[in-house]
Amino acid sequence: MSVDTLTIPTERVQQSRISQVDFDNLQFGKTFSDHMFVVDYKDGAWQNPQVLPYGNMSLSPATSSLHYGQALFEGMKAYRDQNGDLLLFRPLANHKRLNTSAERLCMPELPEELFMQGLSQLLRTDAEWVPSKEGSSLYIRPLMFATDDYIGVRPSLTYRFLIITCPVGKYYDKPVKVAVEPHYVRSAEGGAGYAKAAGNYAAALLPSRKMQEKGYDQLIWTDAKEHKYIEESGTMNVMFVIDGVLVTPSLSTSILHGVTRDSVLQVAKDLGYTVEERRIAVDEVIEAQKNGKLSEAFGTGTAAIISQISLIHHNGQDYELPPVEGREISNRVAAELDKVRTGQAPDTHNWVHKI
Ligand code: PMP
Repeated sequence: MSVDTLTIPTERVQQSRISQVDFDNLQFGKTFSDHMFVVDYKDGAWQNPQVLPYGNMSLSPATSSLHYGQALFEGMKAYRDQNGDLLLFRPLANHKRLNTSAERLCMPELPEELFMQGLSQLLRTDAEWVPSKEGSSLYIRPLMFATDDYIGVRPSLTYRFLIITCPVGKYYDKPVKVAVEPHYVRSAEGGAGYAKAAGNYAAALLPSRKMQEKGYDQLIWTDAKEHKYIEESGTMNVMFVIDGVLVTPSLSTSILHGVTRDSVLQVAKDLGYTVEERRIAVDEVIEAQKNGKLSEAFGTGTAAIISQISLIHHNGQDYELPPVEGREISNRVAAELDKVRTGQAPDTHNWVHKI
């Protein structure tokens, strides 16, 4: 199949649902746009790409991904700039990670052209669904899952890839209280933590709920061997400013390679800050807090971009962090990144992709 010249067949909805949507009160992940992109893999090839009305799918009860979790997803956003153009932020980075996840889960690679053409065609079809209000965007959720109806643990021979989208409002970024997880792990070296595997998220639900029951919003994942080194914060990468230096755990097979993480580090470097990617012991962060050297702590991810941390709980103690307003690095980087994503600042790294 030549995807270069591919025009994707599109079946439009008879009646758009857009007039029923209150764009001023959007709940994250609850409102879906009119269409979806669908392509199936069988006989060793991706076949029959289509844009279809968003709707339910019929599946066999034996669909293997429902049993053995051979399923992955991605998350990214589209913005509308001041001229009304649609802008995607680093879609190729998400595409690359999708294939990294696919490889880890023994799933077929999805060609870049097919991903980009499907995405573009879907966004053009649902262009009206990309909100223009400041802080709003269209959240894009690509996903792939095994579709063999076969009960038995083996890589499926057939798959479905989909893209669905949701208009989302400004993320309400109240600073979060986090607690260092002393027992559970999200992933281990050699595991699938670097993949956006659906099962990783299921396994994180119980520890997260237990931490929330203790009054903390989120947990800080630590390494699987000793619970000594910091990995991530909830479903975000995590960063600290210690002694004026922006530090974040170095990437490994147990950490998701966040697109926002990479963008924040790059923008911080561009602004002249010192950045370190290295192992960070929990004790180092706690010591820095005690000595007044910990000036900032935050998570990074597509949904919130930067999510400030107001308190860290560790070993029975709560450690308060300085007020968010005075946090120079994260506030400057967040503002700069926001401008680049929405076309209000020069795109020096070629991150923005116009549809
Ligand atoms: N870590 C985990 C476990 C995540 O689920 C996410 C969200 N995709 C991130 C980090 C942040 O990644 P990104 O910046 O690409 O959204």
